Amino acid sequence: MKIIIDGRECSARRGEYLLDVARREGVYIPTLCHLDALPGQSCCRMCIVEVKEGGRSKPVASCVYPVKDGIEVITNSDKIQRIRKTLVKLLYASSPQGKHMEDLLERYGPLPESRFEADEGEKCMLCGLCVRACEKLGAGAISIINRGTAKEVAPPFKEPPEACIGCGSCAHVCPSGAIEMKEEGGIRTIWDKDFELLQCTCCGRYIMTPEQYEHLKAKDPESEVVLLCEVCKRKKSADGFRDAFQNITFKNIAHP
Ligand code: SF4
Ligand code: SF4
Repeated sequence: MKIIIDGRECSARRGEYLLDVARREGVYIPTLCHLDALPGQSCCRMCIVEVKEGGRSKPVASCVYPVKDGIEVITNSDKIQRIRKTLVKLLYASSPQGKHMEDLLERYGPLPESRFEADEGEKCMLCGLCVRACEKLGAGAISIINRGTAKEVAPPFKEPPEACIGCGSCAHVCPSGAIEMKEEGGIRTIWDKDFELLQCTCCGRYIMTPEQYEHLKAKDPESEVVLLCEVCKRKKSADGFRDAFQNITFKNIAHP
């Protein structure tokens, strides 16, 4: 099907979301709570765009809005910019110390006066990405607890979570830097729990916790979990490719 994004005709497939089509077409739409591996949160609403269909125009969250044939999308009108600025103002009130605010303030600041008092020192914007990442990998060690202004991400009973395997995925996906993870002398500390780190068998870099290693093995008993860092993995596959290439070349020369 065909849709129009910012005046340009674009191809889209049934079932796709506006944000995905726009990104494929190189159109910038800001997001905070959207990752390719964890899409469709529609929590931060920064991906808001204007959609015109059937003679009407409405703002929608592009990460969860399925494309329809012939719709027209405007990603950066004055109206959309104003809505995003208001969203940034609300985000600032809830998580002024978050890493995500630096970029947002640069792009959308200075912010208009707000009647909401900023929650000083708070980093977390409660997007839920960390919880989803942990659920997706099958640990389910953290969740969003409480309601209203007391809402927060925490492990059960706010104690070092038994189910946590120390993989650090929650900290990696967090856009605000709210989850502290430290690594020192081969020990990773996260959620007040210490984990030993296993080393890359090739270069000795610390790569994963034994709990993470066992978790990966249990998830897919058929496949081999190699204790190699990403750099050594790439090097090994490049070496393998070079050897294979040399063999082919040698064979070709030996038996033309
Ligand atoms: S470090 Fe623990 S809490 Fe965070 S994603 Fe991994 S298992 Fe879950
Ligand atoms: S800790 Fe980070 S990822 Fe988790 S809800 Fe808060 S901002 Fe989102």
